[in-house]
Amino acid sequence: MKFVIATQNPGKVVEIRDILRREDLELVSLAELGITDDPVEDGETFEANALIKARAACIATGLPAFADDSGLEVKALGGRPGIHSARYGGFKGDFPKKMAMLLQEPELLASPDRSACFTAAVACVFPDGREFTVRGECPGILAYEPRGNGGFGYDPLFLLPDLNKTFAEIPEEEKNSRSHRAAALKEFSKRLDEYLPLEKGK
Ligand code: IMP
Repeated sequence: MKFVIATQNPGKVVEIRDILRREDLELVSLAELGITDDPVEDGETFEANALIKARAACIATGLPAFADDSGLEVKALGGRPGIHSARYGGFKGDFPKKMAMLLQEPELLASPDRSACFTAAVACVFPDGREFTVRGECPGILAYEPRGNGGFGYDPLFLLPDLNKTFAEIPEEEKNSRSHRAAALKEFSKRLDEYLPLEKGK
């Protein structure tokens, strides 16, 4: 069965195919379908933004679609940067600068609590209007300075207490086995099994 991965990020397409590993699904990306439009992500939750992306892809292609939305939530900052992680600081990219700014947030400096959580929501939308969302979380702690060269985004700041290593210091396979995105995609895969028999019967 054909399913659209509603993202314009080629790195995510590879990661999602790698984590899902489902031979019953023919996963096609928006780029492979020649779609370059990006919907405005103006939702107030990870789920709302994932739904915006999945609905837009489903409408554009007429195919079932799923999308993810993710970010870093820092407890001492009341969950910021959260859904605004990609544009934290008011600019896109430049994560060394974003991480330096995050470490200097007054509320973080004033708090003993350095706990943080990577969160991902996956939304799935079918052409007949049925839809569902799932969520995956990965708890951790903010390091005092960036560590490691792997991963992307805020990975060098995200410390796994059981390993005393950041996401940027562990192999990609290990990150993919315990990340928020992996947890959300595993849940998505389970929920999909409840929907697919209905799809096949159509
Ligand atoms: P989006 O889900 O593509 O909107 O991206 C959300 C933003 O959250 C990314 O640009 C990163 O800044 C951050 N983020 C999400 N997941 C991760 C991760 O696994 N490692 C590091 N940063 C992440």
